[in-house]
Amino acid sequence: MTPNPRETRTTCPYCGVGCGVIVESDAGRITGVRGDPRHPANFGRLCTKGATLHLTADERTRALHPELRRERSAPRIRAGWDEAMDFAAGKFARAIVEHGPDSVAFYVSGQLLTEDYYVFNKLARALVGTNNIDTNSRLCMSSAVTGYKATLGADAPPACYEDIDHADCIFIAGSNTAYAHPILFRRIEDARARNPYLKLIVVDPRRTDTAAAADLHLAILPGTDVALFNAMLHVLLWEELCDLDYIRDHTEGFDAAKATVSDYTPGAVADICGVPADDIVKAARWFGGARAALSLYCQGLNQSVHGTEKNAALINLHLATGHIGRPGAGPLSLTGQPNAMGGREVGGMATLLSAHRDLSSAADRKEVARFWGVDGFPSTPGKTAVEMFDAVREGSIKAIWIACTNPVQSMPDHIRVVEALERAECVVVQEAFRSAETVSHADILFPASTWAEKDGTVTNSERRISRTCAAVPPPGEARHDWRIAVDFARRLGAKLGRDDVTRLFPYESPEQVFNEHRATTRGRDLDISGLSYALLEARGPQQWPFPEGAETGKSRLYEDGVFATASGRARFARAPHRPLAESTDARYPLHLTTGRLRDQWHGMSRTGNVARLFAHTEEPLLAMNRDDMQRRGLQDGDIVRVKSRRGELSARAQGSDEIRTAQTYLPMHWGGRFMHGGGINSLTLAAFDPVSKQPELKHAAVQVEKLDYRWHVVAMRSGDASRYLDAVRPLLARFPYASCGLSGREVPLLVFRAAADVPAADELIADLDAVLELNDDTCAMDYRDPRRGVSKRVLVQDGKLVGVRLTGETAARDWLNELMAQGASAEAVRRWMLAPVASPPAGKPLRGRIVCNCLDVAEPDIRRRLADGVTLEQIQMELKCGTSCGSCLPELRCMAQQARVAA
Ligand code: SF4
Repeated sequence: MTPNPRETRTTCPYCGVGCGVIVESDAGRITGVRGDPRHPANFGRLCTKGATLHLTADERTRALHPELRRERSAPRIRAGWDEAMDFAAGKFARAIVEHGPDSVAFYVSGQLLTEDYYVFNKLARALVGTNNIDTNSRLCMSSAVTGYKATLGADAPPACYEDIDHADCIFIAGSNTAYAHPILFRRIEDARARNPYLKLIVVDPRRTDTAAAADLHLAILPGTDVALFNAMLHVLLWEELCDLDYIRDHTEGFDAAKATVSDYTPGAVADICGVPADDIVKAARWFGGARAALSLYCQGLNQSVHGTEKNAALINLHLATGHIGRPGAGPLSLTGQPNAMGGREVGGMATLLSAHRDLSSAADRKEVARFWGVDGFPSTPGKTAVEMFDAVREGSIKAIWIACTNPVQSMPDHIRVVEALERAECVVVQEAFRSAETVSHADILFPASTWAEKDGTVTNSERRISRTCAAVPPPGEARHDWRIAVDFARRLGAKLGRDDVTRLFPYESPEQVFNEHRATTRGRDLDISGLSYALLEARGPQQWPFPEGAETGKSRLYEDGVFATASGRARFARAPHRPLAESTDARYPLHLTTGRLRDQWHGMSRTGNVARLFAHTEEPLLAMNRDDMQRRGLQDGDIVRVKSRRGELSARAQGSDEIRTAQTYLPMHWGGRFMHGGGINSLTLAAFDPVSKQPELKHAAVQVEKLDYRWHVVAMRSGDASRYLDAVRPLLARFPYASCGLSGREVPLLVFRAAADVPAADELIADLDAVLELNDDTCAMDYRDPRRGVSKRVLVQDGKLVGVRLTGETAARDWLNELMAQGASAEAVRRWMLAPVASPPAGKPLRGRIVCNCLDVAEPDIRRRLADGVTLEQIQMELKCGTSCGSCLPELRCMAQQARVAA
């Protein structure tokens, strides 16, 4: 441990809660992290992901040098920054000159800092003259933007985290907050502990940990949210729970909304939603009868072809009851990414303009053009995420620049994205992690700095702007994202013969960029003219608006009942219930919903490098209702083919009590880096909401079929697990079922699993041994039974077990995994090696799945004690589970509840 580490305040790069993090570093290396007690988003807490951030700071996973391939057929090789930059500028310039500005595009990220975003936005619009700039935030929150604009007039979340403490009804819809925004869920738990009258309602097709904690869980059928919200409004009207004074004084369009919901009786909607009518009535009464009701919602509403209507129908409930603009009351969309909000603020999306200006408004376009000192830019909206990759695929976009995002993993209908990148004339990828799936499609790779190396600002879900400060320098030749964009802009400008490029991009520091962005907000709803780096550093994170002269930002908006519409009144939306983009039928009879896990984040570029984050869920499991499994003759752990109308994948199935029949669930995180094929988005569809252009990533119709693979292989290797993880990747494609990941804690292991109909060829097993360096015969023990296709190989170094490969018979896999993770000596396996059947020795209980990641407490240890009648509190005192970050608390409570029921 470093005696006096340097401490730097920054923020967590994962979810939109935006927790403050103190980074400890020594001699340019990150040595630890802890929650920032002064940060108002988390007051010192971090979840499992945030608390392991220091373990992601591994240079071996990083892109360290620019790389370039001049011909598609050639491999990409190391290049200098100047050479690679000039090449990229030449490619983009040629496309612009020959085919016009809309022949190039920029696809950026909600993980960029606001300053990075600002420069990219200006580069696309002011220099190139295209609106083809969009972001992966399109995939997670653009329906929240359009929902706010349709009803409240501006893209401004009206409530704040503090409202959790003041609400007496919290309505969570389409969000597994306990997993996806854990620190916010801690706050909800605290509020409930303080106020036993606080009602928690959760709307989710699955009984997630969030739903299990609720006073009322409405397990609606996928895609029926609007019907539910309309039925709740119907009950509010019928039972006179609406605030008619508020409606009269501050809203418009109420009569039309009232007419829309007149047919949505609880009885009729119970059939649509698949929930009891009484529960709909109860939810409406709790919501309408509350002193203050707060809604929290996320991808379950947003990732839908009707995302805008889902958002708007929920906001209708707040307008009808006057639950807005007061402490504890209001709709609050949760952002999935750390700085999706910052991107919205600078207008870094194809359909937006700087500082919440509107691309469709000539006056707004003129204002931005004047501000930047350019003649103007086109009024036609740019291509949004799905449209952008489709245009690349069709050839109208020739060159695409992808920054800080991994579309090959994260975009729906994966194969369309891969085809697009293969057909593009030039693909530039600006990325910190060289293992991201998209990197292999790059003609030019620019290594970028990342978390704890960057300097700038981010905005979290409650409009709170924080400074992010660099604790360490970027490794290798990696550069900051804003600087890469500025360098490119200057070179591109020169090639296009622009003499204003230095004036347009004069920046030498992120603060200069921030100050310019700040100036664009003056007089706008998000006015931050009173903020500066100095103020944020001295007084901590601040919410917008924060105009010049203000003492503080605004905790909540619309307190005066004046909204950002032309009339100043909020607008009720007319939102009829509509069907899912894709329905089930005889061929595709099951609903697939997608979502997050507790310990992984998005495409796993970062969390996928931390062994202990696989301890809670080690591979992508298809959760199925047990009746559906029985009907298909499936047992837990069987390998199945999951097939949609677009593609397929193979995964293990697991029975779940969380979902009803005809529904299945897969986590969103696994892509081609960790499993055979393109991952989860091989199944999803690219249909999108006509207003928000957000695709329906949450749902697809699928079929599930058992794969009778009788031959299995498992390989594990300790040592340089990250390197082995990369090395083993090409082999994933050579087995019909394969996945890989990490395991262990102090001793990280690479784990590779595969299966097939028949034993794999010797050559393939030899390749596996070679990439995992298991082929050193001088320190390996071997057992082979070619007749049965069974073999065991164990690698020993310095008396320790460091590698294992089992083929044909893999029953000893978990036992060996635990031995290796403990750094056990080779003696422990000597007798097992000589036995013809590779079963684990009897009487050795396995630790099993880890529930509490911080304190390394396993599920069987907890369940055994609960079965013995020990209370959860006593178990926590003994094992300490759930006493650190608290991310496992919802699960611990579920386990305790299950034990009570069983008893
Ligand atoms: Fe990071 Fe967890 Fe906080 Fe989200 S809740 S910002 S992942 S520490």
